[in-house]
Amino acid sequence: MSRAPLVAGNWKLHGSRASNRALLDALLRGMVGLEGVDCAVCVPFPYLGEVAEQLRGTALAWGAQNVSEHARGAYTGEVSAAMLAEFGCRYVIVGHSERRQLYGETDAQAAAKFAAAQAAGLTPILCVGETLEERDTGSTEQVVARQLESVLAKNDFGSAVLAYEPVWAIGTGRNATPRQAQDVHAFLRRKLSEQTRILYGGSVKPENAAAIFAMPDVDGGLIGGASLVAQDFLTIVKEAARAASTKG
Ligand code: PEP
Repeated sequence: MSRAPLVAGNWKLHGSRASNRALLDALLRGMVGLEGVDCAVCVPFPYLGEVAEQLRGTALAWGAQNVSEHARGAYTGEVSAAMLAEFGCRYVIVGHSERRQLYGETDAQAAAKFAAAQAAGLTPILCVGETLEERDTGSTEQVVARQLESVLAKNDFGSAVLAYEPVWAIGTGRNATPRQAQDVHAFLRRKLSEQTRILYGGSVKPENAAAIFAMPDVDGGLIGGASLVAQDFLTIVKEAARAASTKG
């Protein structure tokens, strides 16, 4: 079964108008002629309009890092899925562990955000992943199953994207081994369609991308820190294309 890989950058709380422009220019130059991989950047809200303009008509898609579960109303500071869609947004990250841990987002909220995104025609990138303590106590599968099933209970997964992101690997420089990633991806795949893209996220770097992407159930990556460095991100994107070409 061949699934087109996706590599999505998560810029988190980084960027400026000038640095975004320079980064995107470098990415667009480096992506000329690149085939066999979908690529996106998920940027902070204030830059979405400008990034949309710069990327119009290019092969680089863009997305948001969060979305409200509400369509409208008295929700100060929130941004709805319809607002994002109006700007041509393609992807939105839902249930990132930083949202869960730092802002108390629950499984139910992630499910509601997922539904709101899909209803507006956006493609959610749903993040699931266990903490180090949960891995050490052998509850990885139980945790990621709970996180995924809370979404599946209320939504058809459709063409959404799943990202397995072990919390202990995010921003720590400590990636899951290819085998650890593959085991969880294979477990998650059994709950989804064969077509669903499952990305790995957690300290993916140019040095480890090839080995991780070579795993049969890893369909690309969600990339934090390395997505801010054009050359690193481009290398990772190229590794995803190369891995896909060998999977057939
Ligand atoms: C992330 O933010 O989703 C992520 C995987 O970050 P990093 O690549 O920096 O670990």
